[in-house]
Amino acid sequence: MKKSVIIAGGGIGGTAVGALLAHKGFQVTLFDKNDLIGGRCTSYEKEGFKIDVGVHLFGEGAKGPLQKILEIIGMPDALQWELSRDPRPLLNYKGQKSVYSRKSMAQLLPPSEYDNVMKFFADCMSIRKKRINELYYTPLETYLNQYSTNSTFHSFIAMICGQYFCVPPSLASTGEFIRSFRGVVSKRASAYPIGGCIAIPEAYCAAIEKFGGTVKLNSEVKQILVDNDAVIGIELVDGTTHKADIIISNADIQNTILNLVGKNHFPADYVSRIKELTYAQHCMAIKVALDKKVTDQKLIMHIHIDYSNMDAYIEKILKGQIPDEIGGMITIPSNYDPGLAPEGKQLIFLGTGISSDWRNQDWKKWGEKCLESLQKVLPEMEGHVLWYNVDTPALVEKYAGEDGNIIGVGQTINQVKERRPSQVTPLKNLYIVGCEAGGWGIGTELAANSALELADILTKK
Ligand SMILES: Cc1cc2nc3c(=O)[nH]c(=O)nc-3n(C[C@H](O)[C@H](O)[C@H](O)COP(=O)(O)OP(=O)(O)OC[C@H]3O[C@@H](n4cnc5c(N)ncnc54)[C@H](O)[C@@H]3O)c2cc1C
Repeated sequence: MKKSVIIAGGGIGGTAVGALLAHKGFQVTLFDKNDLIGGRCTSYEKEGFKIDVGVHLFGEGAKGPLQKILEIIGMPDALQWELSRDPRPLLNYKGQKSVYSRKSMAQLLPPSEYDNVMKFFADCMSIRKKRINELYYTPLETYLNQYSTNSTFHSFIAMICGQYFCVPPSLASTGEFIRSFRGVVSKRASAYPIGGCIAIPEAYCAAIEKFGGTVKLNSEVKQILVDNDAVIGIELVDGTTHKADIIISNADIQNTILNLVGKNHFPADYVSRIKELTYAQHCMAIKVALDKKVTDQKLIMHIHIDYSNMDAYIEKILKGQIPDEIGGMITIPSNYDPGLAPEGKQLIFLGTGISSDWRNQDWKKWGEKCLESLQKVLPEMEGHVLWYNVDTPALVEKYAGEDGNIIGVGQTINQVKERRPSQVTPLKNLYIVGCEAGGWGIGTELAANSALELADILTKK
């Protein structure tokens, strides 16, 4: 008889590993504390609009690990992906719009630094796999210095690094950056799913149920139960207990080890390591509902200042100040899937990085500044805004925990590859999945890779 598995948490990692294991015949029960499935990758509804908690672009789309999971379990059509390069994304640089291309990138940089960026990109695409592995523990900033020490060059790459991993290049892993960059550029499949972000965890949950498992929402795990140096089940906040052969946590690794299980059940050096983990940065976004469609674009990069001033701009934000104009990633989810807005209406997001000291921010002012900035990029919006939501890290915290950070455990040089916490814990039958342990790649794809690796470990046992 196949083993029973309880999964605590239904983010991408939890639902994905649930689908993979249920397909292999494990008896899967997944509990999530929220009323919506998906953690950071969920979507809520308001007045007929379906709004993602985050601001997502899926780097490898239909050619990446999120889709690979559906192919492994024989449900390749459970998701439909819409490419983000049709129409081609725009660059809005200091008020001028152009198609995002090498040519438009050239206007962002002095000619010598443009050449350095192109050389770095070319090397990323051709560098041997062995060398990528060797570069895993080299900070990206150190590696970039061999191309140029110019701050404009560094700011340019820092923007991409920030979008991928939400950690600064001084801490980011060069190997992880090159591997992820290569995946995105070579596959040319960056996309967004029909049905919004929540369609992905919903597809995995449909698989869990199809293969005989159960998914329970509004079910917070209060405690992971231990007996004789092995985990044996969980207790929910409603007081019910549930037993299983294997427990997988998709909740925050620190919360899992220190609170849900309790540090006394682990070796002291493991507990110290878990306590020392650092997390990705934070962001905020406005989600604007319009009474009509004002643009056909799906994606616009809004860079409102010269790259030579980027450091000062970021420093201001990190100090908790609100800039006069706000740059960032603009996505238009209802142009990927018109079903995300009521007929004839449009949904537009602007997301931007903020200080980790986010609890003391003036969100009303952030919202107003974001809306002003967005209207500069898309003046056609004027007079058509029905309402807008200011989604802050508090919303991410509600859906995923972890102080509302964007990704999970940061992909810094001391937290990638062999230095990343493993999905396998020192406590018998307890495993971790998602952006907290194992895996590689960008955001949701990091979580999906973590799930693929864990399913492999458990099915080979
Ligand atoms: C604003 C924003 C923008 C982003 N942009 C992108 C992007 O463009 N591309 C990309 O790929 N990724 C992006 N991400 C990151 C991506 O969404 C996350 O990295 C990924 O979804 C995390 O998956 P996870 O498996 O770690 O689960 P999490 O999202 O961490 O979910 C954890 C789950 O566990 C549940 N849980 C926690 N504690 C308990 C408990 N005690 N009992 C029961 N359940 C519990 C939670 O309810 C939640 O469902 C973005 C995230 C944000 C917030």
